[in-house]
Amino acid sequence: MVTTCAECGCLVERGVRVAVCADDACCCSHLSTREALERLAEGVRMAFGETDLEGFSSLLAPDVRWGDDDAPNRCRSRDDVVSTLRGALERGVSGSLGEVETGPAGVLAHLVVTRSDASEGTRDLFHLYVVREGRISEIVPYSSRADAAAALAAIPT
Ligand SMILES: [Zn+2]
Ligand SMILES: [Zn+2]
Repeated sequence: MVTTCAECGCLVERGVRVAVCADDACCCSHLSTREALERLAEGVRMAFGETDLEGFSSLLAPDVRWGDDDAPNRCRSRDDVVSTLRGALERGVSGSLGEVETGPAGVLAHLVVTRSDASEGTRDLFHLYVVREGRISEIVPYSSRADAAAALAAIPT
């Protein structure tokens, strides 16, 4: 159901803006626009399809976060993310992209990860790309599809 924000006039459907008001004092700017989510989802598909790390980097906020503060390999910038991904590729880790979905929190990518030692088999990983102001501001990994889907559906406040 599409609702109109009574304050500013944005059209909002389940926490995603489908039309943006012309109000300088827009009170819905914390909600992603459908257009931005679709653009980022397409960017993720292209970047993974072509293993284009620079292309992926261009979707990220400059101060993008990946990993908790106490994680040894935490990322706090685009360069951190690119070097982490490059390191994984160099170690022979490969990932193929399953479905990519959008929701109020951002973009969810299903990754099927294969280690360099293929005898370890594949592993399903779900990456939530949290979107703020049209860029990916945080990468949150989930091993459970249900947990990832719940996080994707959470409406930013
Ligand atoms: Zn607005
Ligand atoms: Zn509003």
